[in-house]
Amino acid sequence: MADRPAGAGSDSSRRWPAALAAVTVAGLAVAQAAPGFTGFRPVRRRLFPQLAGQGDPGHVALTFDDGPDPCSTPRFATVLADHGVRGTFFLLGSMVERAPWLAADLAAAGHEIGVHGYDHRYLPARMPSAARSDLRRATDLIERVTGSRPRFFRPPYGVLSGPALLVARELGLTPVLWGAWGREWTPGSTPDSVYQTLARNLAGGVTVLLHDSDCTSPAGSSQAALGALPRLLAECADRGLRVGPLREHWPAQVTRQSARDR
Ligand SMILES: [Zn+2]
Repeated sequence: MADRPAGAGSDSSRRWPAALAAVTVAGLAVAQAAPGFTGFRPVRRRLFPQLAGQGDPGHVALTFDDGPDPCSTPRFATVLADHGVRGTFFLLGSMVERAPWLAADLAAAGHEIGVHGYDHRYLPARMPSAARSDLRRATDLIERVTGSRPRFFRPPYGVLSGPALLVARELGLTPVLWGAWGREWTPGSTPDSVYQTLARNLAGGVTVLLHDSDCTSPAGSSQAALGALPRLLAECADRGLRVGPLREHWPAQVTRQSARDR
């Protein structure tokens, strides 16, 4: 009887299922909310370097969110082509549906295509089933349109949820956030303000976030980002930093992946 928990009896036996349920619900709530903490950049950079986009110290990963947008994305593609640079475009399924040809053009030009979800909605506020079907739908659509399966996933607003993490894993997607951004969505942003904001965190190994569409931001945001892009590329060239897509940001990992694929 000594190893019987104190107080265990018919009363506590009746209470236990309710207590277990409460603990389980609390645990699930934490599991659902915890990845949201990765939204804090200092935390994620220290604890989750790959999630924070930290890679090869001689390389800067260039990423664009929210496209493909026929009004603005082709201008980004032109600037990148003029500089002989490729980037990673995190596409929204809802935007791909409207301009599938543009998603295919980006892939054909050698840019890497990542998934930004189907709808641009905050994942922790969604039902697990909705988060799962959103990511699956966007990934399948992108594969159909571009002919290749995306490897990287960036959640809307940079905030993950437990169910989204699980389905990303099932789909073979690696979540990646960023380490430097231009905050081009803030009112009154200009190419100079975007560049100055980016420059604060610009360093070898960082992942840069810009937006090639205004679909979730005030009108003119992507124009400010576009204006900052040549200066960003020139600064990286001056510092001897290579600029490219995420697939070139973790060369050792890509090598391991290719070996597995063979
Ligand atoms: Zn976005």
